[in-house]
Amino acid sequence: MKILIINAGSSSLKYQLIDIQDESVIAKGLVERIGIAGSKLTHKYGDKSFELSVPMKDHTEAMGHVLDALMDKEHGVIESIAEIGAVGHRVLHGGEKITQSTVIDDYVMDVIEEYIPLGPLHNPANLMGIRACKAVMPYTPMVAVFDTAFHQTMPPKAYLYGIPRKYYTNLGIRRYGFHGTSHRYIAGEITKKLNREHSKVVICHLGNGSSLSACIDGKCADTSMGLTPLEGVLMGTRSGSLDPAVVQFISERENMTATQVVNMLNKQSGLLALSERSSDMRDVYSGAEEGDEKCRETLDVWAYGVKKYVGAYAAAMGGLDAIVFTAGIGENDWRSRASVCEGLEFLGVELDDAKNKALRGKEGLISSDTSKVQVWVIPTNEELAIARDTLALTTK
Ligand code: AMP
Repeated sequence: MKILIINAGSSSLKYQLIDIQDESVIAKGLVERIGIAGSKLTHKYGDKSFELSVPMKDHTEAMGHVLDALMDKEHGVIESIAEIGAVGHRVLHGGEKITQSTVIDDYVMDVIEEYIPLGPLHNPANLMGIRACKAVMPYTPMVAVFDTAFHQTMPPKAYLYGIPRKYYTNLGIRRYGFHGTSHRYIAGEITKKLNREHSKVVICHLGNGSSLSACIDGKCADTSMGLTPLEGVLMGTRSGSLDPAVVQFISERENMTATQVVNMLNKQSGLLALSERSSDMRDVYSGAEEGDEKCRETLDVWAYGVKKYVGAYAAAMGGLDAIVFTAGIGENDWRSRASVCEGLEFLGVELDDAKNKALRGKEGLISSDTSKVQVWVIPTNEELAIARDTLALTTK
């Protein structure tokens, strides 16, 4: 069976066609600038690719071109839509109402709509993606996989903020957490590797956006992102956690609205702001190597912040069996992994330097044979997690 994975943004649409028998990627691509001048589709299959630049006024038109590309006489990988057994949609926010992946029906569409205030950029785009697919393939079963769902097992002590309760009850303000599909995939993989009934694991999803989760027996007990993905560790352009009074202070001094300040905290902060060079970790390392003091300091702030979360989660769980690194930085950058683990020997964390340095972009154990805590690198695969859920739910 072939499963199409859709990740719709406000003006973009990413897709992957997965053969679920052997879990291989048959084709994948990206449509950019939907509804604006310069719409473009980039389609990849095997080691070949092609581009199509035609106006696409909305997501339905974009989906039409995606299906045309998949069925193209010259570049296509399938002959008819009927070969696509199901579609899995990545959706940002399911709030407290959706705690697991689910077949899309009117109720699910209503819930995605209801949580637009909490996911104002993504939920409307995700709805557009679902509607576009329904329009061009009305008989294909569809599943929604939510970024927030995995974190719904957090207890109130982890998700409640210390503000008047009415804001939680009336407005739904609480920690939700994001990157849930990645954390869930990694939690599943590490649970298989540890092969024990009970486990306490910290998952470090460190990419342009970064989040950590504390997982007890494979379930989320806490996570670093909050009501929005702004909370937590320092990221590419996001500040991560700070004193909320900073918002008022900057707003008054710089004559900015709260929205403008929060925008700045999301888009002009993090590695980019502290290094005054780049939001990309590789550039920050290059800067530090060239002797740029701001870059060196940025790396310190970054690693110190991630390390504090690892320690806090070990304390919160009352122990630590494994740390897993994933996403762009976690999978590829041995220096970042080393700087996070440095000083955690007291928790029983002991890296094997040679193994850590040698590992890039693939799975492996990087702790020493004597380390009490296993340290793993496991590449994340959100699309595969979505495909597996889609298969499970549509073949029930
Ligand atoms: P992601 O959002 O998961 O795609 O991760 C993007 C981040 O991973 C960027 O900050 C990249 O600089 C970082 N990254 C990717 N490869 C490397 C590498 N070899 N060394 C350091 N950082 C890397």
